[in-house]
This record gives sequence, structure tokens and C-alpha cells, in this order.
Amino acid sequence: MIEEKFHEVEAEIARSMERRTRVPKDEPVRLIAVTKNHDVAAMREAIDAGAVDIGENRIQEARDKYERLERKATWHLIGHLQTNKARQAVKYFDLIHSVDSEHLARAIDREAGKLGKVQDILVQVNLAREESKSGVFREDLRALLDLTDVLPNLRLCGLMCIAPNYDDVEKCRPLFHEMYEIYQKVKEFPFQTANIKYLSMGMSHDYPIAVEEGANMVRVGTAIFGPRQY
Ligand SMILES: *Cc1c(COP(=O)(O)O)cnc(C)c1O
Repeated sequence: MIEEKFHEVEAEIARSMERRTRVPKDEPVRLIAVTKNHDVAAMREAIDAGAVDIGENRIQEARDKYERLERKATWHLIGHLQTNKARQAVKYFDLIHSVDSEHLARAIDREAGKLGKVQDILVQVNLAREESKSGVFREDLRALLDLTDVLPNLRLCGLMCIAPNYDDVEKCRPLFHEMYEIYQKVKEFPFQTANIKYLSMGMSHDYPIAVEEGANMVRVGTAIFGPRQY
């Protein structure tokens, strides 16, 4: 079941790439299987079906699973991160998508330094200015990018955003479109160490549109694993 759904999502991504108009059709997309609130057995199934990227949003849950999962995977932290959990985040995650403040960036940098690690990160943008969501506002983006570029134990790799949960999913399109334009601009910035290559946007209900508009990383849970039980 998970295997089937995983391949369906892969196929939908391929079709969405074909529908791209402003974005190169062959720019590959990484599919992150979001396993939060699903058990290790489900993670194994997804990995055996071909998933190499998995996404979690809570440190405690990720740590428990990390210790029990005997399969190789690239770990993505997609949820909001509290500064006091930065140490654990650096320990378990290959890419942290949710850096949205100077304070957090400095904490991750410090903890990565202690582990002798250079931590790959994305900066999360709150383009829709939703109060309920994390992410830096557009006007504060440049300053945070410049800071993360120079902190020695961080490598800035791109941008992430979460679209509002509209009833009509087409309403996400202008936002994804604008994010892609910002991403293109950011790629041209004269950074020192940053390597801007990822635009992480799109979830189960809106990933086809995100891919059409230029996402090259999508975070999909429900469409692969079914609804989460809380
Ligand atoms: C849970 C989550 C997802 C996946 O959501 P689905 O709707 O289940 O695909 C993607 N991104 C973030 C940040 C999440 O917290």
C-alpha cells in the first residue's frame, strides 16, 4: 500500500514536471517522505519502495525512530525548531528546513561547531505572513541569509515555505510562483559559502502545483502514508 502510494506520488511529480512552463522541465525533484506520526514499520516500507529522503517534525519522535531504524536514509527536519533543541537537531538531521531567526541560526551553528559538523540548512520564509506559521518575513530574509552564509558551521542551501491551507488549492499558485522568483534572485546573491540549490515547497494537497511552479524538493506525508492518527 505504502509502496504503491509512493510510486503514485513519484508519477504525479513526473507529470507535474512535464507541465512546467517557466521552469526547466528536467530540473529534478527530491521527494521527502514525511513520516511524522507514522511508525518505523511504515518508514521501512517507504525506504524499501525507494524513498531516500525522510522528513520528521519533532525532535523526540525523530530520535526514537533514528535509533530503531536500521535502514539508511537522509533525514530532514521540516518542523519548527526550538533553540534549546538545536543540539539534538544537529545530531540527527542532514538538512534542517526551518531556520527562521538569527537566534536559532546562531544556536545551530554553535552546536554544529561542537560536533565538528557543517550543518546544511534552509531558511523558511513566511511569504503569506500567517501568524500561525513560522518563517521569516520577506523584508527580513536578506539579513538572515547573509548571517547564515557567514556562520562557519552552517551551509545555507536554499529556501523553504509552507503555503496557507486554502480550500481552493489553486490559490497557492501565485505564492509558489513568487517563491520561485525569490529563489532565482537569491541564487544570484554574492554569497561566501552558501550553495543555493533547494526550493522546498509543496505538501500532499499542493505538491503538483508547487512542482509546476519550480519546487525541487517536496514534503509529502498523507498522500504516501494515509491520514495521521493523533
Ligand atoms: C506534516 C508536514 C508536511 C507533510 O504534510 P502532508 O499534508 O501530510 O503531506 C510537510 N511539511 C511540513 C512542514 C509538515 O509539518
